[in-house]
Amino acid sequence: MKKLALHWKILIGMLIGIIFGLIMSFINGGSQFTGDYVKPFGTIFINLLKLIAIPLILASLIKGVSDLKDISKLSLMGGRTIAIYLLTTLTAVTIGLVLVNVIQPGKSISVETRKELVEAYATDTQAKQAVAAKRKAEGPLKPLVELIPSNIFAAASSNKNMLQIIFFALFFGIGMILLPKKKSKPLKKFFDSFNDVILKMIDMIMKIAPYGVFALLASLIVEAPSLELFQALGMYAITLILGLAFMIVVYIIIVNVFTKRSTSFFMKGIAPAQLLAFSTSSSAATLPVTMECVEDNLKVDEEVASFVLPIGATINMDGTSVYQGVAAVFIAQAFGLDLSLSAQLGIVFTATLASIGTAAVPSAGIVMLVIVLAQAGIPEAGLALIFAIDRPLDMCRTVVNVTGDATVSMLVGKSIGKLK
Ligand code: ASP
Repeated sequence: MKKLALHWKILIGMLIGIIFGLIMSFINGGSQFTGDYVKPFGTIFINLLKLIAIPLILASLIKGVSDLKDISKLSLMGGRTIAIYLLTTLTAVTIGLVLVNVIQPGKSISVETRKELVEAYATDTQAKQAVAAKRKAEGPLKPLVELIPSNIFAAASSNKNMLQIIFFALFFGIGMILLPKKKSKPLKKFFDSFNDVILKMIDMIMKIAPYGVFALLASLIVEAPSLELFQALGMYAITLILGLAFMIVVYIIIVNVFTKRSTSFFMKGIAPAQLLAFSTSSSAATLPVTMECVEDNLKVDEEVASFVLPIGATINMDGTSVYQGVAAVFIAQAFGLDLSLSAQLGIVFTATLASIGTAAVPSAGIVMLVIVLAQAGIPEAGLALIFAIDRPLDMCRTVVNVTGDATVSMLVGKSIGKLK
């Protein structure tokens, strides 16, 4: 396997994992064996990636910001980043809504299937509702308050606090820019070298990626729900996957038109991150690899990538946005509700905000969907309809989330002359 490019190795690992998982599901005791002896290696692999996330954000953002000559450059880059992220998110929700209204997958679900699903997943639904209710009760400005950590060590103790770490790193970096060069020089050297070590660690983790994704996919397959459920929800899954594929086409067009790079350059360059996003269902866990791909393969300057990508991993989730549009209207259709245009525009608004608030971890999107449903007056029990197949779709939407971040970093890079 030595000479193969990394994305091929990962792909082969995934395929063997799927085949292994399928065989194991048919062998007596195979699922148990996979759970006991294969799954832990997948968990170790994800843990390694997560382990690197916070030190990486700290090192690369501090290095990135302190490399800038002055604050005006930071605000220029920041303004563009946020504006483009918002635009791609709005595009994503709109694509989702248009598709779900045209295809109408909710109409294909029978009343019996609906009842069965609502009963079968009632407890799971309640658990997600409880989490969402807690978030809603916190008041509209709570996310803003949460952005500012009161203790950096407490913030760094959970990967969920990624935005707090970003805030600290930016603040710290700004402090360094404002100091005379002579005074900040030792610290700058420290962070440059710290960053290099982290990148080396990512290299080492990537060497075992093909084995990690093998373990992840094998255990996912043995835990997968029955095929019948996939059939009942097939139209919903197809609509969503179509929407996600549309988004990838949108990215390719953006890259072609605005950065003049070819489709194969872009897709080949970002492939390792996409495959990892698919296997881990987490943009946060994929972040180290996304950064490597964007800098090394897509040739975006480190200064831009280290700023745009960590922010994107936490606030820009285009795949999740497509999903929230499709899922909300699908549930409404399945319950026989006709949503007015204004109700759908409301979904655009709440889904955009919800995708920003979604954590970059597996299944985070379905929690935020509860809020979108509640806002649009769609029965929250409908969540049960999509539970069974949420994980595979989560894997697909995470691929889009990561690809979107890479696209925007190329765009921002191009717009400020930092695309090599
Ligand atoms: N798993 C997704 C991500 O990490 C979030 C989601 O559940 O939609 O990007």
